[in-house]
Amino acid sequence: MNLKDYIADVPDFPKKGILFRDITPLMLNGKAFQYAADQFIQFAKDKKATLIVGPEARGFIFGCPVAAGLGIGFAPVRKPGKLPREYVSVSYDLEYGSNELCLHSDSIKKGDRVLVVDDLLATGGTMDATVKLVEKLGGEVVGLAFLIELSELKGRDNLRNYDILTLITY
Ligand code: 5GP
Repeated sequence: MNLKDYIADVPDFPKKGILFRDITPLMLNGKAFQYAADQFIQFAKDKKATLIVGPEARGFIFGCPVAAGLGIGFAPVRKPGKLPREYVSVSYDLEYGSNELCLHSDSIKKGDRVLVVDDLLATGGTMDATVKLVEKLGGEVVGLAFLIELSELKGRDNLRNYDILTLITY
């Protein structure tokens, strides 16, 4: 199955000059969505993952079917002000300003093997912060899975120590 057929390219979104890769057509097509989830599920099995972690919001869309498919847990990584209980946080720099991501402190159990899932790898900043959250809580990151990789932005260079699966490359 050619998953690229289900990605819509949207010029000048959310700002002029940005070509946004819209994943919603893929989500609308049950067979394509299932195919993508199955690839992630196989990767999670190969890595013997015991927990899936996904950053908001599109990491939830792809991470949750993997967790449910394997009967393992899913822990959401969220922006500040969203998690109701004790959490750890990591800040990271953006082109303009900075961002912070948070994870509930009780998300990771001793010995957990964590697969992190997100929709798209660009600079790798989001994933790098997510990995730091997992490791702060003592989790072992056994793999990173993305639907899309924007190879020009060299996000892999920031994530060299991890095994990465991507299903679509631009
Ligand atoms: P990074 O932190 O690697 O630079 O950016 C990746 C994050 O930004 C991902 O969480 C992803 O959801 C979002 N993102 C950036 N550009 C795009 C895009 O063109 N399409 C989609 N679907 N998400 C994007």
